[in-house]
Amino acid sequence: MADTWVTDITHFLDDNGEMIVEPLQARKLAEYFAAIVMLASHPDVDNPLGYQVLCRRKPNRKPCKESIACWIDPESDDIFWICPKCQDRGTISNWRDTLWDMSDLEEIFH
Ligand SMILES: [Zn+2]
Repeated sequence: MADTWVTDITHFLDDNGEMIVEPLQARKLAEYFAAIVMLASHPDVDNPLGYQVLCRRKPNRKPCKESIACWIDPESDDIFWICPKCQDRGTISNWRDTLWDMSDLEEIFH
């Protein structure tokens, strides 16, 4: 079974609640997780933002690039995400009230 990424999104924030800039590798990861947070927290589930998050794994050095599936786990309130192809998966906690929390948009859509 593939490893599960357990991510606390606040580890990627600086004191002002903004995304860290360096080290570069952490920044790249932060952008990846932030995109997942936006997608999963967006209230319009059909096609949230018109974009997808592509898997960043490279099994056998070949980029997977499958579209990541993600949703909010109703029990833990963490975001759960998984790559349907290579099974890379993880959870993201403490995402509420970050810059990428889209759940406030609910009023607009409903
Ligand atoms: Zn994948």
